[in-house]
Amino acid sequence: MIEYCIVDRKTRDQAENGEIDMKIRDIIGKGKPTLSFEVFPPKTQETYQTVKDAALEIAKLNPAFMSVTYGAGGGTSQYTVDIASTLKEQGNVVALAHVTCVSSTREKVHQVLKELKERGIENILALRGDIPADGKVEQDYRYASELIREIRKEGDFCIGGACYPEGHVESENKTEDILHLKEKVEAGCDFVTTQMFFDNNILYNFLYRARECGITVPVVAGIMPVTNKNQIKRICQMSGTQLPARFKALLDRFGENPAAMKQAGIAYATEQIIDLIANGVDAIHVYSMNHPEVAKQIRENLSEIIE
Ligand code: FAD
Repeated sequence: MIEYCIVDRKTRDQAENGEIDMKIRDIIGKGKPTLSFEVFPPKTQETYQTVKDAALEIAKLNPAFMSVTYGAGGGTSQYTVDIASTLKEQGNVVALAHVTCVSSTREKVHQVLKELKERGIENILALRGDIPADGKVEQDYRYASELIREIRKEGDFCIGGACYPEGHVESENKTEDILHLKEKVEAGCDFVTTQMFFDNNILYNFLYRARECGITVPVVAGIMPVTNKNQIKRICQMSGTQLPARFKALLDRFGENPAAMKQAGIAYATEQIIDLIANGVDAIHVYSMNHPEVAKQIRENLSEIIE
């Protein structure tokens, strides 16, 4: 019986025969839990095969979809397109390709959109991208909403945007940030995916504010299973993500023991996901960071919750 998130083989056959869309907007927000995973592309050709193997291993877990991030400056965009296309063709998974714009020219962005279209990738997470440390950006785009408006004109892509339950680091305050999110959604987002968070109450609070502000598209909750103490401290400093005391205790106690940290990080993420689903947040995206064993463990922990 397939009641929950997964896109079964028959559905995929139908999709391949052109009978149904494989757009994320048709998979999430239907009142049933979905589990999806994220991978990042290689930086060089030398590691391409390793990343591809890891991505295909995660695809075997039958996720609702898989996302592939985009290198900050756009220099490795070809790998994003290639891995997304491999996931679709060899992994039989609905693929979501990230595209950033602030460090790209309009010409470059449109070349990537053309490639995605040619490879049959129907889902794009449209982002501004971080401003590089030297502040040097191209002049064609300032915000993700500008990219989203352009992608809308490029055909029938399903478009996602990023959102920040704790507010984006550059934002003056959360009110301003949510108004900019509304503008972004109105530019053409079918869904938004959150930055990672470690306290579910922060997400519930954000969802309340978003709905109050009239943002009604599905919100996909981004969950990071932390397996490396130093890495997470660095990421949180950069993104402004708060670490609750309960989570800090895990880092302090298990941070120097990689195997224990991994087990504790997976357990913490699992608990977060179960609480989210219990409270009606059904679309869960796991930042699996090219670790099939982490993705597999989470999948197993939810085997009866997400069939
Ligand atoms: P925007 O939506 O443009 O927002 C950026 C800032 O500008 C915010 O502070 C916003 O409040 C403000 N703003 C927006 N509109 C206006 C306006 N009209 N006037 C004034 N201010 C405005 N980075 C990568 O390089 N590659 C990736 O693959 C990637 N994937 C990500 C996936 C997710 C789910 C998330 C949450 C982030 C991801 N990032 C990625 C990081 C992202 O690129 C950065 O967080 C970036 O700083 C902001 O991108 P954005 O698309 O949210 O920008």
